[in-house]
Amino acid sequence: MKFAMIGAGAMGLRYGILLQEAGNDVTFIDTWQPNIDKIHAQGGAYVSRDHQDRHLVPIKLETPETYHGDPDMLIFFTKQMQLAGFLKRCEHFFNDKQYVFTCMNGMGHIEKLQQYFANDKIIAGTALIATVLNGPGDVDFMGKRGAGKMNMANLTEKPDEMTHRLFDELEKAQMHPTLTTNFKGTLMTKVIFNSVINTLCTMFEIPMGELGNFDKAYDLGRQLIDEAYDICERAGITLVSSRDEEMHALDINTRIDMPLHYPSMYQDMIHDRPTEVDYINGYIAKLGREHNYEAKTHIFLTNLVHLAEYHRANE
Ligand code: NAD
Repeated sequence: MKFAMIGAGAMGLRYGILLQEAGNDVTFIDTWQPNIDKIHAQGGAYVSRDHQDRHLVPIKLETPETYHGDPDMLIFFTKQMQLAGFLKRCEHFFNDKQYVFTCMNGMGHIEKLQQYFANDKIIAGTALIATVLNGPGDVDFMGKRGAGKMNMANLTEKPDEMTHRLFDELEKAQMHPTLTTNFKGTLMTKVIFNSVINTLCTMFEIPMGELGNFDKAYDLGRQLIDEAYDICERAGITLVSSRDEEMHALDINTRIDMPLHYPSMYQDMIHDRPTEVDYINGYIAKLGREHNYEAKTHIFLTNLVHLAEYHRANE
């Protein structure tokens, strides 16, 4: 299959390189000049696994302006606040036969994709696949080969032939996809998961295991989960896990699966980039307001993360 990977950061490089190794034709498209210059100078991206076996993988990388290909599928891995800018710069190579796929965190991206693509061409999902960009052209795939898993669903909730082709390629790339027919519930379940782990670990600049092993971790998580689940119930969104299952997943993920990992929101904070908190806790609060529910804890946390960003900017 012919892919354009839009955003060649941590996740773009991971998905794109694994899809390329599974036999697909992948072109990366990026706008961050230090990354573009480094990848062109090196002839590819350096890839490690858990800081080991660092090696160069040749890749094709273009800017939106130099790319004139016609991919079957465009995969978006930008940060939420970058997406509108990428879409505008890439618009010249979009056409109505192409499909789009993304596993970006947070919510806000689907409406932006709908401005350029028909609903039956949009597939989105969630990724529990930890990846760190050490710097321009240098990515660390956390975990052993085949580590992590992901969910995907069609916006129309009707998987078609292209959805199954994408699923097969992701499976060959050892991404362990699960195909669901609950679009909003699949995405929101991960937003809620991130609203606990990403936000709390980022605010305190701690690895996930430190949150999981804290004796009040359950209480902190439960308050956020209860608020978010109450809102989703009012909004008519059927989440893919129960409250107790989500609490269990938070516990296992932080304490057992990835205790040493810092979530992607933390990577932004330490590099003095804006975080995606407005699209995670902020989105839950916005959804609450639309359904006459004041998500006090999510609003408070969103403001605290902005305070941490403000503090770093003024240091
Ligand atoms: P990323 O920040 O690594 O890359 C996204 C874009 O930002 C790329 O275009 C990249 O070139 C650019 N970029 C990277 N560092 C930059 C810097 N210092 N200054 C300016 N531009 C820079 O983002 P990502 O981790 O690939 O995340 C993409 C999406 O996937 C996000 O929505 C994220 O929340 C989600 N996600 C990430 C992970 C993870 O472990 N990294 C896991 C699941 C979901």
